[in-house]
Amino acid sequence: MSDVQAGPGQVRHGPVDDGERAGKTRVEVLTPRDVPLGGPRAMSVRRTLPQRTRTLIGAWCFADHYGPDDVARTGGMDVAPHPHTGLQTVSWLFSGEIEHRDSLGSHALVRPGELNLMTGGHGISHSEVSTPRTTVLHGVQLWVALPDEHRHTAPDFQHHVPEPVHVDGAVIRVFLGALAGAVSPVRTFTPLLGAEITLPAQASLTLSVDPRFEHGLLVDRGDVRLAGSLLRPAELGYLRPGAGTLTLRNESSQPARTVLLGGTPFEEEIVMWWNFIGRSSQDIAQARRDWTEGRRFGEVTGYAGDPLPAPELPTVPLKPRRNRH
Ligand code: MN
Repeated sequence: MSDVQAGPGQVRHGPVDDGERAGKTRVEVLTPRDVPLGGPRAMSVRRTLPQRTRTLIGAWCFADHYGPDDVARTGGMDVAPHPHTGLQTVSWLFSGEIEHRDSLGSHALVRPGELNLMTGGHGISHSEVSTPRTTVLHGVQLWVALPDEHRHTAPDFQHHVPEPVHVDGAVIRVFLGALAGAVSPVRTFTPLLGAEITLPAQASLTLSVDPRFEHGLLVDRGDVRLAGSLLRPAELGYLRPGAGTLTLRNESSQPARTVLLGGTPFEEEIVMWWNFIGRSSQDIAQARRDWTEGRRFGEVTGYAGDPLPAPELPTVPLKPRRNRH
């Protein structure tokens, strides 16, 4: 037998889509790391953003994916009151129910297919606890960085239930931005897209998207090919701006579920630490002091337990991070 090892310049075999041939749609696959949320039995989440190679996708700066968890075994979610500044949080569930309480006095149940968007702005605090009737907890928690001119905006809490859109057997729920003819009425501070997309077994779907947007496709279940690259469950495929369409193909023999994130590249440098986003180490130290000394973030009523103490700040100054292009 002769050695037919590939050398440089070898023709690549197998399907290559047009965008990939044009060098535009190479997918960067971000794999998750497991992070314990804390608490007595420490439910853990799979975090794909931020990571060393990528801080943001649009203004999306944090992506935690969890479950399906048997709550009888993991203890579910019990996150005591904690503060946020400079960001919005998006809770999106596939299964289960979470009770949200915040310092504005909001008391809401987060349910599958329903967007709960909390704007931290200058300062808010909240608690998140899975309800006693929850048996399986499964969903994502996402954060959006606020642009400098709005990062001290008033805190806010919004609830929205998107009408599902059906396209070629796929079901699309657009919770932020616009896709497949659906437009979310929820206000964002930068151009953003957030949508849940489910695909039948072996189905393909091509969607028109804003070519100014970069995108991230988080796969919850199924093996999904995006612009030629196969993404496994819990992986996040990143696509740089420039594509006018996205093609998703479910290569598994069961339905696939994904969350598509997008936005125009966020050009500001940010400093992220614990639950705060600022622009400098000083911003973060001030936010930590305000939380520790009981200012700025209000109070959550109705949570059985103490608020979360802030961790110690690192002894070296926190480094600003920016998007890599
Ligand atoms: Mn939170």
